[in-house]
Amino acid sequence: MNSRPFRQRRIQHEAANTDSNILPVVASPAGTPAESAGDRPDIPRYKACSLNNFRDIPQMAGLPEALKFDIEVVAQVLPFKVNNFVLDQLIDWERAPDDPLFVLTFPQRAMLAPAHYDEIAALLRSGADKPRIRAAADRIRLELNPHPAGQLSHNVPSLEGETLPGMQHKYRETVLFFPGQGQTCHAYCSFCFRWPQFVGMAELKFASRETDRLIDYLRCHPEVSDVLFTGGDPMIMSARNLASYIEPLLEAGLPNLRRIRIGTKALSYWPYRFLDDDGDALMALFERITASGRHLALMAHFNHPRELEPAAVQKAIARVRQTGAVIRTQSPLLRHINDDPALWAEMWSRQVDLGCVPYYMFLSRDTGAHDYFSVPLVRAWEIYRAAYQRVSGLCRTVRGPSMSADPGKVQVLGTSEIGGRKVLQLRFLQGRNPDWVHRPFFAAYDETATWLDELQPAFGESRFFFDEDAGAA
Ligand SMILES: *Cc1c(COP(=O)(O)O)cnc(C)c1O
Ligand code: SF4
Repeated sequence: MNSRPFRQRRIQHEAANTDSNILPVVASPAGTPAESAGDRPDIPRYKACSLNNFRDIPQMAGLPEALKFDIEVVAQVLPFKVNNFVLDQLIDWERAPDDPLFVLTFPQRAMLAPAHYDEIAALLRSGADKPRIRAAADRIRLELNPHPAGQLSHNVPSLEGETLPGMQHKYRETVLFFPGQGQTCHAYCSFCFRWPQFVGMAELKFASRETDRLIDYLRCHPEVSDVLFTGGDPMIMSARNLASYIEPLLEAGLPNLRRIRIGTKALSYWPYRFLDDDGDALMALFERITASGRHLALMAHFNHPRELEPAAVQKAIARVRQTGAVIRTQSPLLRHINDDPALWAEMWSRQVDLGCVPYYMFLSRDTGAHDYFSVPLVRAWEIYRAAYQRVSGLCRTVRGPSMSADPGKVQVLGTSEIGGRKVLQLRFLQGRNPDWVHRPFFAAYDETATWLDELQPAFGESRFFFDEDAGAA
């Protein structure tokens, strides 16, 4: 038998960019030293696992073959990747396959429509070759709305007539920046809308290696106060690479740039990133940002209260906070994972206890395995409200449930009855047009709707006020 059950890796961070054939490979710059855990004995080596080696995970041995076959089938379409921290410290194998952290990690049969499942399963059973499987998988993927909310085509800014790949500017105050080196993740969450980029479908049109254009853009747009580094997961980068994006920004002397945000799942999925040798360099970078007088926010992604339990996670949170950075937390509401008010109340409370600030509860995006994870809007509001009622005001910094839809972030405010008509009340938390924000609007009550585009205006209007083009059609 294989004595190395799954790949051992010395390299912790950038290595994740090259560790799988399903990933778009982003080369490390020449001369980048290999990062290791150093000589800190409590930090394990990073080991990655995906479709080609998941059967070798020791904990998998106890699970039925049919389940492993399901993983194999679904993973042809929806990618997955996991590391030893998630396997050893987050998943409760006693409760697998129903354990929420297991479901979050491994593809589930019901994530594919039965016809899609049957097609891929038949190909695998008949021993079809890779190109045939890949062709079928690609065709199925195109049916799964790989680019929701105009992700690729809308909101890409331009400067002097030239488009700026690797940036998105949708809401007035905040520019998203996708550093070319940070376009993968420590694990692929099964609900995530970024799945097309993990299978090479997004062509990484987003990725940008240059901060220069970002600086030029910020100079021309004094209304922008925030830059949000996103990915993938920018925390996959070494401190040195991240610094190569951030330091020029700090040095550019942009008076409007007040806040730097970094989106990440690493606190939960690879907390050692903040604790090992490169973590020292990262903390020094964080300190340089806060010392410059700017607000640094880690937009941390936690889906389940159990992710806050491991000692390494708590240590990582404490360390980040020591730099003056604020950790703000967000998560989608996901059926099978966290569709329970008690769980959200516990998650927000623990986050506040650890010094984090609850920020957004999202609705699961209309892409990929949306049908598997989605919770109807009415139910989502009930869960949010029941959770919100249970926690102190310090946890009530959270806002939701919110859909990141094409016109903006839309919050479900609840149900009511107006003029004898049952309605859903909503509002924009962010809008493509800032004037839309916090203007209440009403949709006809619909208990099954899971997304904005399934709703109808409440009082017979032909369109919602923000549907600018619909009237012209
Ligand atoms: C969510 C989001 C932001 C940030 O919005 P905040 O409400 O300021 O956190 C910025 N750009 C896009 C495209 C977003 O989806
Ligand atoms: S971007 Fe975040 S949610 Fe998506 S796969 Fe990566 S870690 Fe998971």
